[in-house]
Amino acid sequence: MATDPYDWIEQSLATIHRADWYRSVKTIHGLPGATVQLEGREVINFASNDYLGLAGDDRLIQAAIAATKEFGTGSTGSRLLSGHRELHRELESAIASLKQTESALVFSSGYLANLGAITAIVGKRDLILSDQYNHSSLKNGAILSGATVIDYPHCDVETLKSQLEKQRLRYRRCLILTDSVFSMDGDLCPLPTLVELAEQFSCMLLVDEAHATGVLGATGAGCVEHFGCTKHQLIEVGTLSKALGSLGGYVAGSTALIDFLRNRATSWIYTTALTPADTAAALSAINILQQEPERRQQVWRNVDYLRQLIAQQLPNLKLLPSESPILCFQLESAAEALSVAQQLKKSGIFAPAIRPPTVPTSRIRISIMATHELAHIERLVEAMSYIN
Ligand SMILES: *Cc1c(COP(=O)(O)O)cnc(C)c1O
Repeated sequence: MATDPYDWIEQSLATIHRADWYRSVKTIHGLPGATVQLEGREVINFASNDYLGLAGDDRLIQAAIAATKEFGTGSTGSRLLSGHRELHRELESAIASLKQTESALVFSSGYLANLGAITAIVGKRDLILSDQYNHSSLKNGAILSGATVIDYPHCDVETLKSQLEKQRLRYRRCLILTDSVFSMDGDLCPLPTLVELAEQFSCMLLVDEAHATGVLGATGAGCVEHFGCTKHQLIEVGTLSKALGSLGGYVAGSTALIDFLRNRATSWIYTTALTPADTAAALSAINILQQEPERRQQVWRNVDYLRQLIAQQLPNLKLLPSESPILCFQLESAAEALSVAQQLKKSGIFAPAIRPPTVPTSRIRISIMATHELAHIERLVEAMSYIN
């Protein structure tokens, strides 16, 4: 056996290059915000999940510094051993109060929150029904759980219902999985119908609020609040790393669910607790988002302004359906998406090309922030009009 067992890696990379699927990192300098330093020049940032502009906010920075000085850089252990601090409890009650749930549990990331929650609550004898466009963490959590997984077409509640009619009785437990704001499209799940179906067929419903928390709903609680579903028993997952400007994830739900996850979610039990800095920054973000609803309102005003300019100046642009601050311009191919992203970058606009395998069709993805100025949005539309 003289062949190099690692040869396939180079070949696989070559295939990725040929398909225009190759990805690499881009270095950002300085503080995050509506404008950032990208590869040595200032660009307007439409690539960030920092919807409320909090990741560079001095109050979060000061909270992180103060927590680090008081409690150190590392939490030194898992929550059940030496890593649990009063700060974690404070953050978890702030999340539960924001989400209007009985309880909440913070994980090291949103990805780990999904893996932990899904694998803890279903197994081999159970069924998962999952939206085809769900985030990678929901899909991989489903696979890892060992449950039977059936994907339903994107937001297709008719197919979901007929699958439930056919399959539900053959399984012990059933879990429906959905993003609330679909991260690469910006549309919303049909939550009220999903809640109804879950109740009718005795299914658990896990809603991933990663892109909705802080942005949607009267108090910024997310899509569940937006649709008036806070009274229903749900499993709400989310992240501290998007509108909350920090790092970490959470599950919010009933006291019993959270208590169970503390005992059974392996991605929570066997990993180090969130750092004091991340915990304090997220806690500060929740306070700000509750005290300054004008930030959330500004996100929506900016979205409306962009839509209005597009309608007036770029009527031929193919906008994917969206009800969030994520707006996508559909393009023919990965190569075209890359070229448009390049041209935008030359005009001082940072808006990424999103390509397969992340999404089925290539696109430019725009994220609107509260801290974008009207002039930033005008510059984006102007740059797009040169390309069109
Ligand atoms: C970003 C995202 C996650 C992962 O959250 P992290 O905290 O970044 O790991 C999970 N689900 C969805 C829908 C996301 O958009």
